[in-house]
Amino acid sequence: MKYDVIIIGAGPGGIFSAYELTKLRPDLKIAVFELGRPLEKRKCPINGDTVKNCIGCKVCSIMSGFGGAGAFSDGKYNITNDFGGNLHEHIGKKQALELMKYVDSINVEYGGQNTKLYTTEGTALRKICMQNKLNLLDVQVRHLGTDINYIVLENLYALLKDKVEFHFETPVKSIKKAYNGYTVVTDKGDFDSEKLIVSVGRSGSSWMEKICKELGIETKSNRVDIGVRVELPSEIFSHITDELYEGKIVYRTEKFEDEVRTFCMNPHGIVVNENTNGIKTVNGHSFEDPSKKTKNTNFALLVSKHFSEPFKDGNEYAESIARLSNMLGGGVIVQRFGDLMHGRRSTPSRIEECTVTPTLSATPGDLSLVLPKRILDGIIEMIYALDKVAPGTANDDTLLYGVEVKFYNMEVDVDNNLETKLPGLYVIGDGSGVTHSLSHASSSGVYVARQIANNNL
Ligand SMILES: Cc1cc2nc3c(=O)[nH]c(=O)nc-3n(C[C@H](O)[C@H](O)[C@H](O)COP(=O)(O)OP(=O)(O)OC[C@H]3O[C@@H](n4cnc5c(N)ncnc54)[C@H](O)[C@@H]3O)c2cc1C
Repeated sequence: MKYDVIIIGAGPGGIFSAYELTKLRPDLKIAVFELGRPLEKRKCPINGDTVKNCIGCKVCSIMSGFGGAGAFSDGKYNITNDFGGNLHEHIGKKQALELMKYVDSINVEYGGQNTKLYTTEGTALRKICMQNKLNLLDVQVRHLGTDINYIVLENLYALLKDKVEFHFETPVKSIKKAYNGYTVVTDKGDFDSEKLIVSVGRSGSSWMEKICKELGIETKSNRVDIGVRVELPSEIFSHITDELYEGKIVYRTEKFEDEVRTFCMNPHGIVVNENTNGIKTVNGHSFEDPSKKTKNTNFALLVSKHFSEPFKDGNEYAESIARLSNMLGGGVIVQRFGDLMHGRRSTPSRIEECTVTPTLSATPGDLSLVLPKRILDGIIEMIYALDKVAPGTANDDTLLYGVEVKFYNMEVDVDNNLETKLPGLYVIGDGSGVTHSLSHASSSGVYVARQIANNNL
């Protein structure tokens, strides 16, 4: 079977490539290969009743399928070059921002019309942060919420399904260089295309590395972020979340001069499990629907680690830490901040008596037995720094879930067109290591689609 363009992966990178290609070049024959299921068949078995924790499904419905890792995410599309990836290093800051705004306009058109675009512009919170050694980053953020994000995906699928051939539950095993293009090898047969866009996300990281080795494409190691998810009563952060939805705040620790940052803030949200390659970590999201809002706000506190020679596998380091929490807690561990500071584990009864009701059923335990001292010290320092701008953050009953890890893919050697040294083979989204967010991954998809549509086919 011969296509003009094959896209591997139906996450935001793949979807926005398909969207833009079909819009600009309806004449092209396009296929998407995705190892996960269609959107409506993606069901995580955790129901809070009979199945309370991650059971390690072979294909994780949270990470894979139409919508990719973003499908059940909080749908926060950040319009900024300050975080979320290094797309601007390849395509320039101006163009990167323009593409993020374009992606935003599509999200608005396909279901997000009643959602809010928050901005840090002119906020008085910046000064208060600065006065307390905290740096509030500049950003505009569209918060779709998990429910509207899902609707946008449904609408995009309805638009694309007759224009693109979707092959779900069809993992691509390998890629071969062929005459005038590429062959993708699957259990259901081999498929050829002239251009190939690879957008396999974080869950495809090991596969991506293998493919790069086989095709002789260079990769370089990247960073990893390790930390905890904080959960507290929503009132404590309401002055920040009401105005900005999410405050991206960075703190430099006094002890080690490490950077600790807030990440993925979810007002009235829930804490959730995440399963990456069988390792259970923690994440969070929230809903736009008022009936699904909780009394809590959650966010991650992360410390970035970069390694130097001879060790260069930051992901393996973080996985080992996450495995330790899985070994001690059977999954994610939860601890009251007060218990951590008193040097004792949290117990089921201490969590039961806690004034903050946990939104995730995790194992009460001791995070100091899991997280390296340097990382834990940084997190504790940041909690006290945040307590000055959001008093109550350092309360004994604040809950800490661990571990939260932001794995970053090895960076694939791509040029400023996001094309590898093999002509017509593009690597985009989180799988390239260039992006780490919904808006950057989606924008990279639009960027490559425009090149293929306008110049190359
Ligand atoms: C719970 C959660 C919440 C998040 N919240 C946010 C947020 O609010 N804001 C934000 O900016 N980011 C968020 N993120 C991150 C965001 O989802 C990712 O940055 C984004 O989805 C990356 O898009 P992508 O297309 O590059 O990759 P992905 O979304 O990971 O999609 C890649 C797809 O490729 C498929 N695939 C992998 N290997 C193969 C193969 N060999 N063959 C075929 N298919 C394959 C996978 O199944 C997957 O569906 C969140 C992530 C999670 C898990």
